[in-house]
Amino acid sequence: MATGDDRYRKMGFMCGLEIHQRIDTGEKLFCSCATKHEEKKVDAAVVRRQRAVAGEVGGIDVSAKFEELRKRSFTYNVFAGESCLVDIDEEPPHQLNPEALTIALSLAQSMHMRIVDELQTMRKNVIDGSDPSAFQRSAMVAIDGSITVNGAEIEVPTLFVEEESSGIAATGSGTVTYDTNRLGIPLIELDTAPTIQSPAMAKAVALYLGTLLRLTGKAQRGIGSIRQDTNLSIKDGARVEIKGMQELDSMDKFIENEVLRQQKLLEIKSMLAKSKAKVGGAADVTRIFANTTAKIVREQIDRKGTVMALALHNFKGMLGYEINPDMRLGTEISDYAKMAGVRGIIHSDEALDKYGFAEGEISTLRRELKLGEGDAFILIAGTSAAEAMELASQRAGYALQGVPKETRTVRDSVLCTTRFLRPLPTGSRMYPETDVRPVAITSGMLAMSKKMAPDLEQEKKRLHTMLKNVPLEEQLILSPRLPLFRTIVAKSSAEPDFVANTLLQKFTELRRQGVAVDAIKEERLLELFDAYAKGSITKQAVGELLAALAKQDEKVAKLAEGLSLNRITGGALKALVERVRKELGGAQAGKDALRERIMAKDRLRIDGSELNALL
Ligand SMILES: [Zn+2]
Repeated sequence: MATGDDRYRKMGFMCGLEIHQRIDTGEKLFCSCATKHEEKKVDAAVVRRQRAVAGEVGGIDVSAKFEELRKRSFTYNVFAGESCLVDIDEEPPHQLNPEALTIALSLAQSMHMRIVDELQTMRKNVIDGSDPSAFQRSAMVAIDGSITVNGAEIEVPTLFVEEESSGIAATGSGTVTYDTNRLGIPLIELDTAPTIQSPAMAKAVALYLGTLLRLTGKAQRGIGSIRQDTNLSIKDGARVEIKGMQELDSMDKFIENEVLRQQKLLEIKSMLAKSKAKVGGAADVTRIFANTTAKIVREQIDRKGTVMALALHNFKGMLGYEINPDMRLGTEISDYAKMAGVRGIIHSDEALDKYGFAEGEISTLRRELKLGEGDAFILIAGTSAAEAMELASQRAGYALQGVPKETRTVRDSVLCTTRFLRPLPTGSRMYPETDVRPVAITSGMLAMSKKMAPDLEQEKKRLHTMLKNVPLEEQLILSPRLPLFRTIVAKSSAEPDFVANTLLQKFTELRRQGVAVDAIKEERLLELFDAYAKGSITKQAVGELLAALAKQDEKVAKLAEGLSLNRITGGALKALVERVRKELGGAQAGKDALRERIMAKDRLRIDGSELNALL
């Protein structure tokens, strides 16, 4: 029987992961700024532009060139105490943060890696503007590691400590504003070899590495603090990197869709080859649409924009060819065009009626472009239509070759589809950082990191002694909420099984109902489990209180009071039983009728076993 993995092996599926985890050190990697974002006020802002220059070997990186075509300018927000002159590249970096190094070393130990004798900081080109210096500092800590996941050995060739990039605060047309408080926070970067053989396995490996990072006790939490980038390709396809997947739950689905996309692009390639398709030249056709009634074109002409057209010979039907759920080849071409700041493209595989073109405009266009029956065209209107068409034409050309090498990011988190972000960077982008002295790794550092090394097997054993429910145990070890579980169990006397069940099943259930459970503060959860352990609320009330806490950050005691969720127990419960007994006709009232009447009203406030004992 062919297993799922066999199916992917036959496709020549190759997949590797690149994990970035922000670590919770006191200071940033090369300066003394805080790593917590508490300062909300922007202190100052710096504006920069970037230009692609030839590297040491003479070539210009395609992604750098691409970025220049986008002609964007970058603004960097500075926050007191959280960004400094080092962050905006006006002061040399300080020494590498030893705390970050120790954490990286401890991880290297737990993956049986070979640790370098001396840490050499390098500069890695960054072309998206997220670093004011246009490079990121990175230091290789260890090589040649491995982990065992579901019985398979996965190589971990490298481990780095590096600087986090700036966070995007806002994007406008031709501008991006970055917050530099995030810049320079230490990151651990782990790579796996591209030997992962199925989408399900990729997810399992990502979960495993996430757990290992969390077990250091120094992994930052919250959205974006861990990033799992995936590199994958199939036979005859191309290497594509997917960034920005937030939910590991759907990682396998994203990978499956990328495999499908590559297969469909290969189908398109072979059809285009059969029909001898080719990309024609771009032409300014603004005058054809000078009096157009098509609203979206009209608006752009009124703004002094131009209308560009591109002939695509023997492309008919291909632009509308579906390559992923709700995505066509036309979508991919449009994504490239949008990078130059236009709203999108219009193409001949669409129902053109919806745009409201005037009689004869399209036929004039087809005539002037000398289009035959099997030909297609693309139109782009806007003030940057020429640049956008250059990019669109480039993407249309790639359709003849198959799958372009790209970095992609999430388009739709429900459909699990991706969109083009930028071309995959080519060649080596690293050169030595001469402003930072190398750090010799001492035997003391090695001994200390060995002691601190996270141990997944040990953790499993600990959980095993704590929990009765085995499936829960396996889920919990891989869950991002494992540290939270440990804190709650350490600080309250609530039963571990109940805590685990709530953090896993109950959270998932509530999240599916649209409750923002992940927004609940840790201290509130501690209060909640404490209230339960002390008997002031019942098990059944916990779900209600979680839903309430997700809406409103409030002390649990006050919330329970306000929602009448305080437990009825002891003397109060006795009194309630007596009152209801009288209502039901005194001593002859049946136990079941009594229980039913009481629970109907106060199900969330009464512990069933306490009531049974009383009855
Ligand atoms: Zn700083």
